[in-house]
Amino acid sequence: MPDENQQQPTPPAPNAERKTLDDRAKMTELERVRHSCAHVMATAILRLWPDAQFAYGPPVENGFYYDLECSHRISPEDFPKIEEEMKKEIKANNTFEKIVVPREQALKDSESGRLGGLTERPGNVSKFKIDLLKQIPEGEPISYYKNGDFVDLCAGPHVMRTGNIGAFKLTSVAAAYYKGDEKGPQLQRIYGTAFKNKTALDEYFKMLEEAKRRDHRKIGAEMGLFAIDTEFVGPGMPLWLPKGTVLVEELEKLAKETEFAAGYVRVRTPHLAREKMYKTSGHLPYYAESMFPKMEMDEHRADRQKIEQRIAELEKQLADHTKKKSGG
Ligand SMILES: [Zn+2]
Repeated sequence: MPDENQQQPTPPAPNAERKTLDDRAKMTELERVRHSCAHVMATAILRLWPDAQFAYGPPVENGFYYDLECSHRISPEDFPKIEEEMKKEIKANNTFEKIVVPREQALKDSESGRLGGLTERPGNVSKFKIDLLKQIPEGEPISYYKNGDFVDLCAGPHVMRTGNIGAFKLTSVAAAYYKGDEKGPQLQRIYGTAFKNKTALDEYFKMLEEAKRRDHRKIGAEMGLFAIDTEFVGPGMPLWLPKGTVLVEELEKLAKETEFAAGYVRVRTPHLAREKMYKTSGHLPYYAESMFPKMEMDEHRADRQKIEQRIAELEKQLADHTKKKSGG
């Protein structure tokens, strides 16, 4: 089970698809604040761990993230340190300066490790930036955004200055594959959120706390209505206890009576169906992570194989021992 603090309330799509210039122009002011904050976070991380290589850093529903590769494994214990550096960058109120460059220049700056870095980093090529460059269609302008010493390959848009980021907080770390490809390099994904001011930020975290407090999974378990066992049964699959079962049955009774009174007749459908059905119903795209994570059958198979192997070993030992005893 991952630590609860490590989980994001709404996980974004695993593959951050490249936004078109049109999509980017539509970014809201809040998204600009958040994406700009991702640049500031990268600046801070590089001050602490200069070897970090950055990949994607888009705004997401409740904040932003930036994927990176780094010799240091970043944990939530590092957040205060990173946030401290971020505050310095915001206080410096550096402009987000746009620089349009020819493709060859961008390739050269990636080779030297300068892109997505604070300085040139000989021997530490900006490999993700090279790949991102390849995805920029011929004819589309290639631009950098520079705040302080940090230069990133980015089409924008951002806020005018780092000081326009009102309030922010780093929230979690997760593992992510580059471009969502599980055969690709594994990266560290650092999530954060930002708001125009501290009041809005505080309200957001208060709302999260309230939501946690009012979570039906928590309340239902506390009231002894059901138990959820994510290890043996699965998330979103309650085991109804006697008190809860009474409620379920009463509700079913009421539903049946209401339907009967309205002239409906009942049908029955299977509990399980092909993936296609859940795609059509629209459940799978939205609840894949929270309700329908893949069951790790292979993991169980490996465990079973290990156990069977051990049983065979023990049986052999026992047989040998019995033979020795009887053979004298
Ligand atoms: Zn940017």
